Amino acid sequence: MDYDVIIIGAGPGGIFAAYELTKLDNGLKIGVFEAGNELKDRKCPIDGEKVKSCINCKSCSIMSGFGGAGAFSDGKYNITNDFGGTLHEFIGKEKAIKLMNYVDSVNLSHGGEGTKLYSTANTSIKKICMQNKLLLLDASVRHLGTDINYIVLTNLYNELKEKVDFHFLTPVKHIRTMSEGGSEKYIIVTDKGEFTCSNCIVSVGRSGSKWMEEICSELKIPTRSNRVDIGVRVELPAELFSHLTDELYESKIVYRTEKFEDKVRTFCMNPRGSVVNENTNGIVTVNGHSYEDPAKQTRNTNFALLVSKHFSEPFKDSNGYGESIARLSNMLGGGVIVQRFGDLIRGRRTNHKRLSDSFVTPTLKAEPGDLSLVLPKRILDGIIEMIYALDKIAPGTANDDTLLYGVEVKFYNMEVKLDEHLETSHKGLYIIGDGSGVTHSLSHASASGVFVAREIAGQQ
Ligand SMILES: Cc1cc2nc3c(=O)[nH]c(=O)nc-3n(C[C@H](O)[C@H](O)[C@H](O)COP(=O)(O)OP(=O)(O)OC[C@H]3O[C@@H](n4cnc5c(N)ncnc54)[C@H](O)[C@@H]3O)c2cc1C
Repeated sequence: MDYDVIIIGAGPGGIFAAYELTKLDNGLKIGVFEAGNELKDRKCPIDGEKVKSCINCKSCSIMSGFGGAGAFSDGKYNITNDFGGTLHEFIGKEKAIKLMNYVDSVNLSHGGEGTKLYSTANTSIKKICMQNKLLLLDASVRHLGTDINYIVLTNLYNELKEKVDFHFLTPVKHIRTMSEGGSEKYIIVTDKGEFTCSNCIVSVGRSGSKWMEEICSELKIPTRSNRVDIGVRVELPAELFSHLTDELYESKIVYRTEKFEDKVRTFCMNPRGSVVNENTNGIVTVNGHSYEDPAKQTRNTNFALLVSKHFSEPFKDSNGYGESIARLSNMLGGGVIVQRFGDLIRGRRTNHKRLSDSFVTPTLKAEPGDLSLVLPKRILDGIIEMIYALDKIAPGTANDDTLLYGVEVKFYNMEVKLDEHLETSHKGLYIIGDGSGVTHSLSHASASGVFVAREIAGQQ
């Protein structure tokens, strides 16, 4: 079958590319190929009773399917160039912010109206952070929450499925190039047949990272290794952070350690949220989310503390390094390990007794253990320093009962060589979203989809 545009991957990048293309040009024949399921059929079999841990489904319902990795996320759309990707380096800061605001308006018109937009502008918290050697990054954040995010995705799907051919459970195996009438065309190879197009948008996210590397190598598209972020998820009583989360929802705070001058930062803050498992290629790491609906909220707030690791020659495999650390925690704990901060400082493991005596009730069932046996000293020292720094702006952060879950790893795709149109050296082949290494957030990935759709429609 012949399409004008084929989109590979139905995460935020792919969805927003399809959305914008259908808005701009009704006549285009668009096909979306997605390795995972339709949203309503995305169900992780882990129920805590019959299935307690990951059974390595052929397609992981948490990471794959309509909505991509973000489908069951907290739905925090950060509107900023300060973090979440480097889209602005390709398209300019002003345009990037405009596109993120546009994405926000689409989300609002598809079920997100009434959700709150938080902002760091004019907050006194910035000064308090500075006084304590902490830097609060600037951002506006729309918090949809896991529940409203699902509604927005459902509404977008219902609208799109009338105008776009969706091919679910159809992972693309190869992209081949062919020349027709002097211009390049693409053959998309799947188990269900071959499809052609003149423009191909690849938006395969983190779950498609290994495949993306193969495709870049086959099509001779240069790539560069990226960083990996390693750390823990912190969980504590919501009251301790409420002065930050009530005003800002998510505060991205950076600390430079005294010992190594490494930067440690907070990431993905979930007020009154839950800590969850995340499965990346069979390796169980930790993450968090929260609901907008008060009935689903917990008494705890969680956030990650991460340290970025970049490697120079000769070692290039930063993701492999992160995977090895996560594997070590899986080996010792059978999955994610939880430890009380007090036990970590005293150099002893947390056991079931100490955990059950704790004043903080964990929201994730993880194995009590010792994170110092898993995390490299330099990373662990940085995290401990940052917990004491945060204790100054949110007293109680360094309490003995503060829970640390490990490990949290943020894998980044290698950076694909793209021009200012997010186009590869092959005319009409665009790589967007997290799969390109350019973005690592919902808002940046979605904005990159809108940008490329406008490029293809010639309406920038
Ligand atoms: C638990 C969790 C919580 C998160 N919370 C937030 C948050 O609150 N805020 C935020 O900004 N970010 C968050 N993120 C990150 C965010 O989800 C991603 O940055 C975003 O989804 C990237 O969008 P994408 O379209 O680039 O890729 P993805 O969302 O990863 O989508 C890629 C899609 O491509 C499909 N695919 C892969 N390979 C192929 C192939 N060969 N053929 C066909 N299809 C393929 C996959 O199945 C997937 O559905 C979270 C991530 C997780 C896992």
